[in-house]
Order: sequence, then structure tokens, then C-alpha cells
Amino acid sequence: MVSPRSRANGCGTDAPGDHTDHPALLRLGVPRRVGVKVSRATRTAVYERDDWTCHICRLPTRTDRGTGDPWAPSLDHLTPRIRGGGNTVEEMRTAHNWCNTIRGTEPLGDEVPVWAVGGPPESWKQSRAVVAERMTGAAA
Ligand SMILES: [Zn+2]
Repeated sequence: MVSPRSRANGCGTDAPGDHTDHPALLRLGVPRRVGVKVSRATRTAVYERDDWTCHICRLPTRTDRGTGDPWAPSLDHLTPRIRGGGNTVEEMRTAHNWCNTIRGTEPLGDEVPVWAVGGPPESWKQSRAVVAERMTGAAA
């Protein structure tokens, strides 16, 4: 069934459906969305293997401050999901929420990145100041 809204998606065809399988998109190699669901068991297996330690700044994560905290553990994908990385234990590492977020999809070298030395700030609000300080080598 063709809904009146199918023209509103900007692809300019009259084909029915949501157009995620539109040939133009498939030709461009637009990746299918990969689910973000990771089971609790997989999550715990990654954290325990890594001894609850962040692989970016190499400091322990904290579970006593809530899951949204900069110091809370999160799963970091070795290969970003957008480049086809999977959700298996082997393909993930433990990272602080903050380190994971600041790093984005930048590849890691052998050294702790200069912005990550010392671990996350006490609050997200301090992120910008802390990163700027570390990058410029300014004293606290
Ligand atoms: Zn960290």
C-alpha cells in the first residue's frame, strides 16, 4: 500500500515502502543500521575480562556512581559499528563513558592519548576544560 507520506522522504520516486531498500541507496553501499543491543551477559563478560579497567586511559571504571557517570564503564567497539564492527566479546573493550565519548571513532595508538591521561573529569560539564587543559599542557 502506498501511503501519501512516501513522497515526502525526498527520494522522488513513487515506490511504496520506507525506501531503505531503494536501489539508489543500495548502490551507494549505505550500511544497514546495526542494532545496539548487547546482552547483559556479553557486557559483563567484556568488563570482567578487562578487569573493569578502561583500555583508553588504563584506569579502573567505577560502578558506584550510576551508568550515566563519566567514570562508569561502557563498551567500546574496536571497529566502529558504522564500519561493520560487531557486538561480540572479542570485538569490544571496556572504556569509561567519558573516554569512549571523547575518543569517538579515532583509532588508538600504543600510548594513552594525552587528553585521557588521568582519566575522566568529575563531571561531564568539565569535559571541555579538562581536554583543553591536557592538550595545551596548561597547569590545573
Ligand atoms: Zn578511561
